Amino acid sequence: AELTADKTEDATFRMYSELGTAGYVDMASMMYGSLPAGYYGVSDFDSYNLSGTTVKETILVGKTACFRCPIGCGRVVQIDQGKYATGRFAGPELEVTGTMGTLILNNDAEALSFANKQLDLFGIDTISGGNTIALAYYLISEEKITKKDLDGINPKWGEVDSAVKLIEKIAHREGIGNLMAEGSFAFAEKFGVGELAVQVNGLETPMHDPRGFSGMAIAYATSPRGACHMSCDMYNWQMGVTDEGLDVESVDRFDNEAVIAAKVQDFRCVTNSALTCHFYPIKADELAEMMRLVTGWDFTLEELVKAGERIFTLQRLINLKLGYDNKNEGLPELLLKPLDGPTERHVPDIEAQLDTWYKYRKWSRKTGKPSKSKIAALGLSDLS
Ligand code: SF4
Repeated sequence: AELTADKTEDATFRMYSELGTAGYVDMASMMYGSLPAGYYGVSDFDSYNLSGTTVKETILVGKTACFRCPIGCGRVVQIDQGKYATGRFAGPELEVTGTMGTLILNNDAEALSFANKQLDLFGIDTISGGNTIALAYYLISEEKITKKDLDGINPKWGEVDSAVKLIEKIAHREGIGNLMAEGSFAFAEKFGVGELAVQVNGLETPMHDPRGFSGMAIAYATSPRGACHMSCDMYNWQMGVTDEGLDVESVDRFDNEAVIAAKVQDFRCVTNSALTCHFYPIKADELAEMMRLVTGWDFTLEELVKAGERIFTLQRLINLKLGYDNKNEGLPELLLKPLDGPTERHVPDIEAQLDTWYKYRKWSRKTGKPSKSKIAALGLSDLS
């Protein structure tokens, strides 16, 4: 209890508790430019209607929490009237607020909630599914495809009805939905424009644009499973989260902070293994203390840091055995276009970040393989 007593005063804790993860929408959109809009090409979209604050004042009727979580970031909304009636249902969190909101230039929270419900009911991932649908909007607007390619559906920026129809097609793998169910790269490639799909290593990017937080570039490029914000949440750290025990303190969100990203990746391997939520502001030394209390082991901060590095390195060794090719580490071209607004036309230098990251990890930049000495130091020689 002593270890957690002061957490309720933490600003992030309070924001997620009061407003859900969509409480971050205003900041992400207007202050940092990290919430992508118009399929990664628009920097001045007004997302106010979608923010956790607005949702709280309009359609919110309750909140939910994972077992015994004191934050309770889950939202419950209720919409009983109109074409987007959801009844009482789980409300939109940040990621779907991006994919079914800003990414298709929709600023109607009720329409967003309805699309969110459809995705949830069909069990479609809101990031991958939402991104793939948003790509359809983009490809139509760029005249790379026609409505005939989408079985007569003609998505227009700002409207959600086309997205809802595409969700159903994907869920039933019907017509174009059969292809879109394979994800954005497969979908775009079929029309000869695979490079326009915003994904890394086959996984669609979450709603944390690397032009707003440079560290998300190396996070997406080197994640063990493609563009993933759960393996490395650099947006949090480049907004000011620090950890003395990890020696992590961001200086500037536009800097090459690939060393910090590597440390965060390792730390997230531990918190993800310990099932500690990213939204809970726990420090590395506190987690080590909790491990000691729960297991009775003499578990130090240094061992925790090493365990994280061991897990991350093991993931790479497994991926290499499965055919991982580090030549695919990079960013899709739409994320390398400068935008006006809060990102100040910043574009991360991913090659420089990769150089820094590989050097810090003592892995081969050429092959992507951890060095023999590093593998041995982590006790993984038998597995390499
Ligand atoms: S554990 Fe995390 S995801 Fe679950 S309710 Fe708490 S803050 Fe939200």
